[in-house]
Amino acid sequence: MGQSAPTRGAPAPSAQALHAVVLTHAHLDHCGYLPRLVHHGFRGPLFATADTARLAGIVLRDSARLQEEEAAHANEHGWSKHRPPALCTPARTPSAR
Ligand SMILES: [Zn+2]
Repeated sequence: MGQSAPTRGAPAPSAQALHAVVLTHAHLDHCGYLPRLVHHGFRGPLFATADTARLAGIVLRDSARLQEEEAAHANEHGWSKHRPPALCTPARTPSAR
């Protein structure tokens, strides 16, 4: 593959240039970028154990729900700069195959 996962401050690799993603475990700091990769055109395979894939689905849906709640709070109290809010909603969360 030749590219490592993005780190803070480093430019993200082009999603379309990636051949595959290896998910070692389902912590949000590892799987949380997957929806953004898919949004930006990544269509390659994701390699993970069955348990990691299943847990990542739970973590991503939970994260999406928390984002929705935070966006609703931001809209309600007028501190959101996005109209409508740009979210990874549970419906947009990639599902494991
Ligand atoms: Zn971790």
